[in-house]
Amino acid sequence: MPKLCSFGCAPNGSSIHFFPNAFKFPECFKAWVTLVGGKLESASDYEYYQKKLICDIHFTPEDRVQNNRLKAYAIPSLYLHETPNNSPVHEVDCNIHFDLSDLLLSALLLSTI
Ligand SMILES: [Zn+2]
Repeated sequence: MPKLCSFGCAPNGSSIHFFPNAFKFPECFKAWVTLVGGKLESASDYEYYQKKLICDIHFTPEDRVQNNRLKAYAIPSLYLHETPNNSPVHEVDCNIHFDLSDLLLSALLLSTI
């Protein structure tokens, strides 16, 4: 099986990473699948994406630990789609949680004044 990046680019010599373990890091795994435009509807979808790869260029230095390995919760964020113009930056689910907790926090602060 040729090693191909799920974003459709041809990895030229850069390292390539398997998708996160769907059992250990389900949220992370789902985020990767969503980013490559896939969906998880059956067990075979999980199996399929568990074998997929994403090359190293999609990760920022902050996503890595030593030896170029990825952090457990690294999410690809660079060159996600090869579009001629600048595509909008993707939003990962956890941003919503941050917004929510901000709202809760301000509500809490307001109620204590
Ligand atoms: Zn790639």
